[in-house]
Amino acid sequence: MAFHHCIFCRIVARDAPAYILAEDGDCLAFMDINPVAPGHALIVAKQHAENIFDIQAPVLQRLMGTVQRVAQAVNAVFLPDGINIVQSNGPGAAQSVPHFHIHVVPRWQNDDLLMNWSLRPGERSAIEANAARLRAILG
Ligand code: 5GP
Ligand code: ZN
Repeated sequence: MAFHHCIFCRIVARDAPAYILAEDGDCLAFMDINPVAPGHALIVAKQHAENIFDIQAPVLQRLMGTVQRVAQAVNAVFLPDGINIVQSNGPGAAQSVPHFHIHVVPRWQNDDLLMNWSLRPGERSAIEANAARLRAILG
């Protein structure tokens, strides 16, 4: 079921814009609009599930294949020193969008990024350009 008040359901339904990277039957990958680093991407389940407890295990398993593909593209394009795969559940874990998603976060030595980072809007043109570079690899 899709929820019109849910921003990620709206992006999946193309009711809200996003810099989309990849799509299959289970999931959609797109750029985070408040990137903590160039290349910060999200993979969301198409079917609305709030968190790790709600998502169906087979969907989660298939979704991880896309997480790996996006991580490989981010690695190839941005050449980070490392990548964190982050997935948050509940307010105590700083989950801000209650629709299951996995972050691909490129990391650099001494970037001083903390786990509960605050949300700061990125430059749209830079996010769009980074999306294009990743799409070139993802096909
Ligand atoms: P959470 O804090 O729930 O782990 O992550 C939610 C993420 O979704 C945040 O990093 C936030 O920047 C991102 N986000 C929130 N609203 C939008 C939106 O409308 N479009 C995009 N592309 N990302 C969003
Ligand atoms: Zn949703």
